[in-house]
Amino acid sequence: MADPDLHVFWHDDALLHDTGSGVFESPPSPLIEVSELHPENDVRIRNIRSSLREGPIAPRLAWRDGRHATIPELEMLHDPAYVEQVREFCESGGGLLGGHTVVSAGTWPAALSSAGTAIAAVEAVLDGDCLRSYALVRPPGHHAQPGRTDGYCMFSNTALAAEAALRRGVERVAIVDWDVHHGNGTQECFYGRGDVLSCSLHMPHGSWGPAHPQTGSTLEAGIGDGAGYNVNVELAYGSGDTAYESAMQRVVLPILDHFRPGLILIAAGQDASQFDPNGRQCLSMDGFRRLGELARELADRHCDGRLALIQEGGYGRSYTALCMHATLEGVLATGPLLEDPMGYLPDDETRGDAGIAAARGSMRRYWPI
Ligand SMILES: [Zn+2]
Repeated sequence: MADPDLHVFWHDDALLHDTGSGVFESPPSPLIEVSELHPENDVRIRNIRSSLREGPIAPRLAWRDGRHATIPELEMLHDPAYVEQVREFCESGGGLLGGHTVVSAGTWPAALSSAGTAIAAVEAVLDGDCLRSYALVRPPGHHAQPGRTDGYCMFSNTALAAEAALRRGVERVAIVDWDVHHGNGTQECFYGRGDVLSCSLHMPHGSWGPAHPQTGSTLEAGIGDGAGYNVNVELAYGSGDTAYESAMQRVVLPILDHFRPGLILIAAGQDASQFDPNGRQCLSMDGFRRLGELARELADRHCDGRLALIQEGGYGRSYTALCMHATLEGVLATGPLLEDPMGYLPDDETRGDAGIAAARGSMRRYWPI
């Protein structure tokens, strides 16, 4: 029997967020004749869209319209004054909103579409329209905190989708974030709560200053009712397919088996790939396919298959798209449908071991793993 289709949610306003170029050459330098696009540009998600529309996975996907989030939806987790600050700053023409977060006048509708489309993808799963969904959105969200922007992110899209699910009656939601960067905004949203389990697999990068005080350490495990419900797995630079699968098998899966989520959300970045300007990890398309398979297996085991993926980072403008195609090959259990044009880097199978051992050691205080 064929698997149910996966529904992809898209909103054209994602393309209105203009981040420009030259972010690494400020002030302009004669050393650089041709500027880089800002890493978080519209090309990356246009290529994901075309790969899913034109690739061999296309017959298994249905395309659905996204929507804008309402202000009350943003205020489920974000401070009203912060929401207003973002709106005013964008509508006054934009500029640099926080350290690396460039915004333009079009960023406001884009950010609304990103949060709203993430919520819509989850609503479709909860309403039974589809078993599995994917929100192809931009700007990303997992660095945005309740009261501040951070790391190209305005609103915490995946966290808002989790909160929306809780308010529709799901008792426990698990977020698995395999974007290469620490999901610090998601962590901050739920740090004192036990109804959302936030798991982040990431490369080491520590704090990024006042806008990003969280470090992604395994010791950041949550406080109060949230103690034990924030799971950080810091994987050494150069970690690849084996390390990521092992982190899932040895940390995320056993904790989820005890947490028993009613819904699983994946903060799906592709910047842990071996060809990404903003990451220093080495996942191949095989690795992303395997992550997709594991997400599906977890959802089948705990949630009657219900699973929603929400786009986060991923900055290689072409390889990101192929890695997302491979991820959905895993989610839909198709087996490999595309060749990996970059798949020649040897996998260092022990590279992630120390970080995985540290995460297991830290989490044993809270979970019998
Ligand atoms: Zn990232």
